[in-house]
Amino acid sequence: MKKLNGDNLKIALQRKGRLAEPSLQLLKSVGMDFDYHEGKLFAPCRSFPLDLLFLRDDDIPEYVQDGVTDLGIAGLNIVQERGAAVAQLDCLEFGSCSLSIAVPRKGPFKTVFDLEGKRIATSHAAILARFLDEKGVRAKIIPISGSVEIAPSLDVADAICDLVSTGSTLRMNDLEPIELVLKSEAVLIANPSSLKDPRKKQLIDRLRIRFQGNIRARKTKYVMMNAPESALAQIRQILPGMKSPTIVQLAEPGMIAVHAAVPEEFFWDVIEKLKQAGASDILVVPVEKMVV
Ligand code: AMP
Repeated sequence: MKKLNGDNLKIALQRKGRLAEPSLQLLKSVGMDFDYHEGKLFAPCRSFPLDLLFLRDDDIPEYVQDGVTDLGIAGLNIVQERGAAVAQLDCLEFGSCSLSIAVPRKGPFKTVFDLEGKRIATSHAAILARFLDEKGVRAKIIPISGSVEIAPSLDVADAICDLVSTGSTLRMNDLEPIELVLKSEAVLIANPSSLKDPRKKQLIDRLRIRFQGNIRARKTKYVMMNAPESALAQIRQILPGMKSPTIVQLAEPGMIAVHAAVPEEFFWDVIEKLKQAGASDILVVPVEKMVV
């Protein structure tokens, strides 16, 4: 087995679970070249001084805190639950879910305040305790490590506090969410001492610029269109928030081509308005990377 290289930056990744595959995809998309197969615990990158360590997701915040690795990708829910002393650097915009309190449908509980004196099962006891404290609700927290959703039907609890993604697990168990406790997604975390080491900090910054280039690109489309020159002022007003669009004169007199990057969130609105303003032959292409 290959040994860890002491000079390389180290990043902890989920070995199994919802963040495992998208974390590998993110690293590959920013030029990290490594061999991976299931069951592997460690993989060095050939193209960047970075070693990947595949760990149990609950353990990642502590490993980063203790300096076993410099960086980690973990769910915000795990980072907050473990309360580890790590720096939260960036949201990575995948693995989104909500930590929510849910109760049996058609039951008597409508808000968290109805749970005073009741039992709530969760695998996020620390976050739930803080939340109940803030709300001034005294409920009994029943710590459970998995399959939290069956606790009410076993009469182990009156309510649960669990991660919800599509909501199908709740529906299957005849539960409904009544209170959002935390919105979570994958976050990049760092060991505070690694951020103070100039050599490591420089590598971390390079990696973050690449990650951000990928995240921005995922949220952006490149739009090209033809339009009469007379529509340019209106088209420029419609194109949101980006720097100056590229304008190219077409062979046909009085016609121009306009190229611009458009944020995905405004995308359909912008396209409809552009058409109304006189744009035609609108082409939309995905953006691979976007470094500003
Ligand atoms: P869903 O049925 O899609 O709402 O997913 C709910 C189930 O998946 C619950 O058992 C959750 O504990 C688990 N889950 C949902 N989202 C995540 C996530 N981002 N990370 C880990 N587990 C999750």
